[in-house]
Amino acid sequence: MSEQQVDAVVIGMGPGGEEVAGRLAEAGLTVVGVERALVGGECPYWGCVPSKMMIRGSTMLTEARRVNEYAGSAQVTPDLGPVGKRIRAEATDDWDDKVAAERFEDKGGRLVRGSAVLDGPGRVKVGDDVFVAARAVVVASGSAPVVPPIDGLSDARPWTNREAVAATEAPESLVVLGGGAIGVELAQMFARFGSRVTVVEAADRVLPPEEPEASEVVAAALAEDGIDLQLGEKAVRVAREGGEVVVSLDGGTSVRGAELLVSVGRQARVAELAVDSVGLDPGARAMDVDDRMRAGEGLWAVGDVTGVGAFTHMAMYQAGIAVADILGRDGEPADYRGLARVTFTDPEVGSVGLTETAAREQGLSVRTGVAQVSSSARGWIHGPGGVGVLKLVLDTDAGVLVGATSCGPWGGEVLSMLTLAVHARVPVSTLRTMIYAYPTFHRGVLDALGDLGE
Ligand SMILES: Cc1cc2nc3c(=O)[nH]c(=O)nc-3n(C[C@H](O)[C@H](O)[C@H](O)COP(=O)(O)OP(=O)(O)OC[C@H]3O[C@@H](n4cnc5c(N)ncnc54)[C@H](O)[C@@H]3O)c2cc1C
Repeated sequence: MSEQQVDAVVIGMGPGGEEVAGRLAEAGLTVVGVERALVGGECPYWGCVPSKMMIRGSTMLTEARRVNEYAGSAQVTPDLGPVGKRIRAEATDDWDDKVAAERFEDKGGRLVRGSAVLDGPGRVKVGDDVFVAARAVVVASGSAPVVPPIDGLSDARPWTNREAVAATEAPESLVVLGGGAIGVELAQMFARFGSRVTVVEAADRVLPPEEPEASEVVAAALAEDGIDLQLGEKAVRVAREGGEVVVSLDGGTSVRGAELLVSVGRQARVAELAVDSVGLDPGARAMDVDDRMRAGEGLWAVGDVTGVGAFTHMAMYQAGIAVADILGRDGEPADYRGLARVTFTDPEVGSVGLTETAAREQGLSVRTGVAQVSSSARGWIHGPGGVGVLKLVLDTDAGVLVGATSCGPWGGEVLSMLTLAVHARVPVSTLRTMIYAYPTFHRGVLDALGDLGE
């Protein structure tokens, strides 16, 4: 057993940990970053990046099919094989664990490969080595997919996001448990590459945390892609029978597929860190942090492990706050009012801040404005695929938007102006006098403002 003195130790080198460790090293601290898998974490290898590359491929195929619909004559017969394989090659070339490790070491950090546990205040153990941190220990251990305790599920060898993004061919058929963001993104992608897809969702709509209007648009798009939506249904039993996975539903029916993808949520990695050694509850759902990302004396946490929102941009935002606090620099505390998120289906669902329901639950005086993308000039010009909805949630007392949804083609990009409006509390009267370029998708915001009334 050896003990080494450092300024800071970061556990986990995903987007959050890499950002904290790199910035602390650049500031001149002696920093050890500990990673047991790949530097970069879930996002570049099994999450955001490969899933969006596969979605990009499947969207291109769909656009090619839409040529038939639009022109009525072209005979486009897209093929999964070459497209899928090319996308995967790009994914592995661009993101490389060794390059990421060198990038951190070039900043002056030291990467230690292995599994870390806390070993009392200021102490982190990796194998036989103990690192004693004078300034900070930062936990950025991320999250893992939840595999719920459904009878027979684990034995049925279900896919998680990892197997799904490693697939080089679309399975003949696929059952997706969970109609949240990851579930519907992957469901649509596989359907477009040729799988017969069934989505099982316990709530009565897909994307339950989003506005119902957006769920409706996405459900229609999924149905158009031939996806069977089993809504308001819970899986109660799973079995592999004759090369197929059979999922029994609580309504008494069953669905089957060659593969089963579980995407019912993610669980913060807390239990395995020996957090009891620093006085925290190992059974906690997440690492509880304050608005400076402090989880205890000399202890910070960032990213998925905090349970605040499982997004790469959230991990990096929190990383910036933790770095400022550790270095004793002035900085704003965490403020999640303007938290933006995007579901990369076609059409995309971008949203920021509160939904109408959440705003009402907070006791705000609320008015909403809604506009259909297909009724806008750009939606009409766009033709096939030009559907979506814009919804604004106004706090009538404050005269500012507290939430907004932009569902449609490039809905995640249209979201940017709405994120600014919510974040900067731009008066809705100012938004009404802005000049919106014609014919853009973002001009639909003007229509939704009109629907808000005076
Ligand atoms: C399919 C999918 C699609 C997604 N798409 C998007 C998207 O489009 N946009 C978006 O913003 N987010 C997306 N996400 C979420 C995003 O990937 C995560 O929010 C992000 O990776 C969280 O970063 P993190 O640093 O908190 O943790 P992680 O990326 O999970 O990294 C944690 C790291 O810690 C390491 N680790 C854990 N425990 C230890 C230990 N004890 N010792 C040493 N190392 C340890 C792990 O090996 C891992 O590398 C997606 C996720 C999935 C699964």
